[in-house]
Amino acid sequence: MIKAFGYAAQDASTPLAPFSFERRDPKENDVQIEILYCGVCHSDLHTARAEWGGTNYPCVPGHEIVGRVTRVGSGVKKFKEGDLVGVGCMVDSCRTCRSCREGLEQYCEVGFTGTYNGPEQGTGANTYGGYSDTVTVDESFVLRVPDGLDLAATAPLLCAGITTYSPLRRWRVQPGQKVGVVGLGGLGHMAVKLACAMGAHVVLFTTSPNKREDALALGAHEVVVSKDKEAMAAHVNSLDFILDTVAAPHDLDALLVLLARDGAMVLVGAPAEPHPATTVFNLIMKRRQIAGSLIGGIAETQEMLDFCAKHGITAEIEMIPIQDINRAYERMLKSDVKYRFVIDMKSLKQDAA
Ligand code: NAP
Ligand code: ZN
Ligand code: ZN
Repeated sequence: MIKAFGYAAQDASTPLAPFSFERRDPKENDVQIEILYCGVCHSDLHTARAEWGGTNYPCVPGHEIVGRVTRVGSGVKKFKEGDLVGVGCMVDSCRTCRSCREGLEQYCEVGFTGTYNGPEQGTGANTYGGYSDTVTVDESFVLRVPDGLDLAATAPLLCAGITTYSPLRRWRVQPGQKVGVVGLGGLGHMAVKLACAMGAHVVLFTTSPNKREDALALGAHEVVVSKDKEAMAAHVNSLDFILDTVAAPHDLDALLVLLARDGAMVLVGAPAEPHPATTVFNLIMKRRQIAGSLIGGIAETQEMLDFCAKHGITAEIEMIPIQDINRAYERMLKSDVKYRFVIDMKSLKQDAA
């Protein structure tokens, strides 16, 4: 076994703190990765605090991992020592069900193995995520980081990037369309950048008036403060697609009515409590749709990384030492994220010393 060190939550109510544990030695198809950076996703907070239920403790969060390969198993074909790689939200799946065969491992019918909070295929063991110094992962779930991307700013692509890219692609967002993005946090700011790169006219909906200038600088063509009823009314019946990234329950009707006929609103934000129910008439009168979407498959994640490299897209990040993780969570709860915290894993050495 390999000695590993990171930060873990021991239960739902105590802060994350230093934690020693073990990783498996690389098996035939495994790569061992020295973790350089890990993004901080709101899902980490939901899980560490058991807001979705079902958290296995100790919980080492983190599923936006960028690192360097330090060892490979004898059967590994795609990677070699020294390669720069990424690991996102999944480290395994059953690989045989219909979803897995179609490259949609995130919808594995048996349940994929999360990068943290397990359960591991076969053993059911807990898995530990990227707020740590090293990880061992089957090469099938490891992504290649394209040349030329800033490594720390690439980490958030592994969840925030793919979670927004996948529905934008699935609903075929394209030039000439008007696309709404709701919430300017980690996911939302990636959605703005990606939808702009796909050629859409992007309207950002925010509860934070002070994010207006940033949203425009990120590429949004218009910014609407969602509490401003008049500004909202100006967009009624006009949007082709809305991506809702908000991490808390809110009024979906206020957004649904902004969709044009046959428009779709896709929910990726995953609040702990349900949204208030929507009014059926807002759906049937214009054949509008509400759907959900979960991260993206491995092949699509690689496609997204390559798309980002081609278009020069990475996240806007605030780098933090891991010792600041609990403060970062508090800021996230106040929507005070600009626009993704990324942990510099070198900082772990201060605790290990
Ligand atoms: P984040 O960085 O905290 O951003 C969430 C944004 O939502 C905030 O910046 C804020 O934007 C808006 N918001 C409005 N009211 C809020 C409130 N009361 N509390 C919190 N946020 C509020 O979070 P994230 O990492 O982007 O994640 C967003 C959600 O997506 C989370 O629920 C996360 O678990 C979920 N998620 C889902 C998937 C998936 O596969 N479907 C993947 C990753 C994450 P404004 O200030 O602009 O209003
Ligand atoms: Zn995430
Ligand atoms: Zn499967």
